[in-house]
Amino acid sequence: MEHLVTDVAIIGAGPAGLFAVFECGMLKMSSVLIDALPEVGGQCAALYPEKPIYDIPAHPGIEAAELIAQLEAQITPFAAPRLLGRRVEQLAGGPGAFTLTTDAGDTVQAKAVIVAAGAGAFGPNRPPLDGLGAYEATGAVQYYVKRREALRGKRVVIAGGGDSAVDWALALNGIAASLHVVHRRAKFRAAPESAAQLDLAAARGEIELVIPYQLHALHGADGALQAVE
Ligand SMILES: Cc1cc2nc3c(=O)[nH]c(=O)nc-3n(C[C@H](O)[C@H](O)[C@H](O)COP(=O)(O)OP(=O)(O)OC[C@H]3O[C@@H](n4cnc5c(N)ncnc54)[C@H](O)[C@@H]3O)c2cc1C
Repeated sequence: MEHLVTDVAIIGAGPAGLFAVFECGMLKMSSVLIDALPEVGGQCAALYPEKPIYDIPAHPGIEAAELIAQLEAQITPFAAPRLLGRRVEQLAGGPGAFTLTTDAGDTVQAKAVIVAAGAGAFGPNRPPLDGLGAYEATGAVQYYVKRREALRGKRVVIAGGGDSAVDWALALNGIAASLHVVHRRAKFRAAPESAAQLDLAAARGEIELVIPYQLHALHGADGALQAVE
């Protein structure tokens, strides 16, 4: 349990919170970073460390984990203390004299607070399919790709039509043995450039688009997935 005093308390150590440490440091203000997750990086580190990101200025393409590593390097000179694995549960006081309390009983007294909580607590959007739990338990059904190599040589079905689905389809092209993208609409909601690349990969026969359909059933036994209907 820690009791810290600082100029600025930053709730959330995702990319926004990490860069807030830099901005505070440049203004000669001390800061403390607090995050409910055990590591910094927010969604980038927890959900998609190996996914390439293409919309960061001055980076034509950078993997999420590398982006976080670069942000870490950028804030190293400011040596902001971190309270990780701690969720901020209370905010009391007012401008000039805030007190934050975490679920572990830590307190941080701060003159100002930056809320960089992003999506807050994040969790998967589970499809209503029979027997889903057994496939989740074995990892046959996953909601995030943490390591692309874990899917090398596997037959992969991606369900979804947004940026994540399309980006993962492109990132796994050439790694998975086969790739099907199932989307309930004919048009993908992803960034137009990514959607265009997906169409090109489909035209080359590298990725099969299953549109407009949605997942109906999973077939297999004891959590071993054999087919997707
Ligand atoms: C699969 C996927 C792919 C993506 N791809 C891209 C992409 O290619 N390009 C792009 O620009 N964006 C992408 N995004 C979106 C991008 O990751 C987010 O916009 C970005 O992470 C937001 O950063 P943030 O720092 O604001 O918040 P987050 O990354 O959400 O971090 C917020 C942090 O706050 C912490 N927190 C929340 N509440 C509390 C609390 N009470 N106490 C302590 N800690 C708390 C959370 O634990 C979390 O670590 C993608 C998102 C996903 C899920």
